[in-house]
Amino acid sequence: MRPTGKLHLGNYMGALANWVKLQDQYECYFFIADWHALTTDYADPSRIKLNTLDVALDFLAAGLDPEKSTIFIQSHVPQHAELNLLLGMMTPLGWLERVPTYKEQQENLTGKDLTNFGFLGYPVLMASDILLYQTQFVPVGQDQTAHVELTREVARRFNSMYKSDVFPEPEALYTPVPKVPGTDGRKMSKSYGNTIGLTEAESVTATKIGNMSTNGQRIRQTDPGDPDLCPVGDLHKVFSSADVLAETQQGCRAASLRCAECKDGAFHSVRNVIDPFYKKRMEMESNIEQTWQMLRDQSAKAAIRAEQTMVEVREVFHLSHELGEEGRSFGVSAEDLHNAHDLTAHSDWWNLKDKAERAKNLRDYWRSKLLPRDISLTQEGSRVFSSLERELDEPLLSPRKKRVFVTTSRDMDVADEWHFEIPSKSYEVWMLLPWRKEGYWLDCFAIPQKIFSQPFAKAKKSMKKDEKISVSLRKDGERFLLSIHGSEPVDITELRGNYEPLK
Ligand code: SF4
Repeated sequence: MRPTGKLHLGNYMGALANWVKLQDQYECYFFIADWHALTTDYADPSRIKLNTLDVALDFLAAGLDPEKSTIFIQSHVPQHAELNLLLGMMTPLGWLERVPTYKEQQENLTGKDLTNFGFLGYPVLMASDILLYQTQFVPVGQDQTAHVELTREVARRFNSMYKSDVFPEPEALYTPVPKVPGTDGRKMSKSYGNTIGLTEAESVTATKIGNMSTNGQRIRQTDPGDPDLCPVGDLHKVFSSADVLAETQQGCRAASLRCAECKDGAFHSVRNVIDPFYKKRMEMESNIEQTWQMLRDQSAKAAIRAEQTMVEVREVFHLSHELGEEGRSFGVSAEDLHNAHDLTAHSDWWNLKDKAERAKNLRDYWRSKLLPRDISLTQEGSRVFSSLERELDEPLLSPRKKRVFVTTSRDMDVADEWHFEIPSKSYEVWMLLPWRKEGYWLDCFAIPQKIFSQPFAKAKKSMKKDEKISVSLRKDGERFLLSIHGSEPVDITELRGNYEPLK
């Protein structure tokens, strides 16, 4: 419920009285939607807290029970805002513009500028309020059907877009709502100025009912009337006991009951509903600190439940607060880093006899020290730190699932010239690592397919099965020239240390 002022009998009969009953059947969450109030009342927020207190006291006076339900303030549970932001990312603008109340309210609330972002987005906030508690039912009136439907669509879109089942699709729970007539016979509504307040003094109610029009009935008290055509008759229908109702209807039709007496009866029937409520509310108003503390405690309780949902939602958006699996497979493990350091620090390493082992160490060093952290190569989605050595059998995969062959140059000591051997298999990127032991020099070139595909295809024709393609790299001044199996050299200087082809 939005905190936009004191509640009236229409709110009570239309919503609160039903909610009180629902508490015994369901696990319920009732909240005061102060953020929602700001979507239209942003220009003057001065009454938000007072109105929030008003609604809270009305909730409690009507019989909402913090022992049975969770009763809280929306803005005290920041998860509502977080979910609103995230669902806002994936809710199409067109859905919001189509919500019937959007245009309607813009036209009706002429005194307010409702071209603000918050007002357009309020159905997403509403969807967040509902979905945050993985809600099954939303107790609403028929006029809220469009909002619940939008919430269902948002849940559906979320679940299908992210292949999840975080949100059940909530259903509207329509509870019987009596049409509560206002003092002019129209539906009781603040915008018609025809309300009877839940906290108004007896004398105010008496005056309002006393001044009610009889809709042209019984201009002379000796005329018989028709209580079905009179707003006072309507009040009796909602608030009077069966006996009183029958008596007044008969008295009206027979002209044996004066309108003043009839109105007095309606006044007593209305006050019979208001008085216990009023009394309870006054008791609580005398201890406002305690009510506020209750709201804070209850909000903390709601936040615990809301956080459970947000943990799932953040997981879906890869925003979880835990480092998790992604962190474990990201970057360099402490052990690998240690080995990499060892690689350069260990004097024996450079004298390793086994060329394959030396090549593997160089590749590991390149991977842990030079490969950018956002381009960790994987093998079938798993970590491959130790599988680099298996490169001849299986390709590595770039983050975009490109097949990558990683190799170091052969261990030769020819200045400014490096040789590589590449299996004649189909790769999308060759990662060539020329190295020289003087100065611990290791470089890298990511060669995209478009550079090697033609000479590669040509070379393959003249080769035996399992023969390797020889590739040479030569430094010519500042330029690096690549030749594939004797092909014309190609300038690949710009590919030096350039990881674009891997992306
Ligand atoms: S008796 Fe009552 S119901 Fe009949 S016209 Fe008068 S006020 Fe209306």
